[in-house]
Amino acid sequence: MAAAPPGGAVPADLATAAFSRQQNLVDFDDELVRRQRCFVVGSGGVGSCIGMTLARMGVAHVTFVDMDTVATSNLNRQLLFTPDQVGMNKVDACKQSLERSHAFRTSAAALHCNAVTRWADIVAEAQEQHMTAIFNGCDHGGFFDIALQALARALDSPCLYTAASTYAYTYQVDSYGTAAGEPCLLCTNPPAHSISIDDFAAASGAGRASEDAAGAITAEEALAVLKRVYQSEHELLPGMVRRSIAAASDGAATLPRTRGAVLRFRSALTGEILAELTPARVLAHTSLAFIPADPKPDTSSVGSWAVVCCMGSMFAVNCWVQRLAGQDVPPMTIANINAQRGSVWREQMGWDSFKFHPKPSDGCTLCGFKAPGMPAEEVAAMAAAEAAAAAEAKERNRAATLARGFAAAAALGAGLIGLLSVALARRGAQA
Ligand SMILES: [Zn+2]
Repeated sequence: MAAAPPGGAVPADLATAAFSRQQNLVDFDDELVRRQRCFVVGSGGVGSCIGMTLARMGVAHVTFVDMDTVATSNLNRQLLFTPDQVGMNKVDACKQSLERSHAFRTSAAALHCNAVTRWADIVAEAQEQHMTAIFNGCDHGGFFDIALQALARALDSPCLYTAASTYAYTYQVDSYGTAAGEPCLLCTNPPAHSISIDDFAAASGAGRASEDAAGAITAEEALAVLKRVYQSEHELLPGMVRRSIAAASDGAATLPRTRGAVLRFRSALTGEILAELTPARVLAHTSLAFIPADPKPDTSSVGSWAVVCCMGSMFAVNCWVQRLAGQDVPPMTIANINAQRGSVWREQMGWDSFKFHPKPSDGCTLCGFKAPGMPAEEVAAMAAAEAAAAAEAKERNRAATLARGFAAAAALGAGLIGLLSVALARRGAQA
């Protein structure tokens, strides 16, 4: 993909003078920023805004990737697009707007494709351009996010990974480095195969799987379900399905139509997919059509607008440039920007937040990170504290039961005395 030079109308000195104010920023390395080569995967509400910001910061290069065209309903928030660009490929519109208005020392390129099915083009562009940053604004799902992280780790040069997603009043930004020993998205937020259990059960023609039923699902039937859900085929899928069925049914060739068996199958299939998304293997795939998309909620009913897209995108660029400068950036930030009193919040999840997530004991397949085991004395102290708390609760219960017993006895006593008094009073009255 040939990179176009920045807009021809830019005077030579502008490329330097335009960036004088950011050169005065503390902790901002303008020379480092101007060497960055950025891959913006997904060029909609998040990607177009990220690309625009990167150009205004003066990075060396931006390549936009997207398969869509500009729609009128994009114009409220996708800031690079103008009404005369409706109908254009989004990536061409991004490149055109960047060169026309935002790029003073940045070259831009456009890659109009489906990043999942034309993965080889993504890999080739990342390698040819010597990308140093991948920005993920694509909402294909957790497995695709893992693929982009694996790509960032597979490239020769250090390549930082940043993702942003936005809707309504909420944005989420994920920010990861690729240094050895640094945890990745897979060990902090492992994706799960979201395909419906009932879909698998229905493949055997017998309805829902919520109740275990007799019969079995063949590999062909399971594969047919996957093809329908993925809306694509991939040469790796038949083998993945066969091995997952065997893993879920003690080596059998068919899957029992029980909830437990389907859950085991889904878990095995997740493992099969993740095994293909390692830095060692991810460069070799021509298509990633063996990964599932996350089920998409109807986001049009939730809505989106300029403010949340801008804030999420800008925060993503901010996380990236701070990580670039070697600062400690949390891997995940979720923010609600609704300005009603008391409803604005931002949660930054540091590495500590993920400490107790289950991880493979022999290391994460993507980054090699091993979960630090809890020290034995800490485990013993925790067990002792739990035992003490349990004993205390038991004692409290016993005391409460006794107190209730006394209260009941006292009430009964008071009742009897009352009855006795009444009886005595009556007898007194009769006497
Ligand atoms: Zn990892």
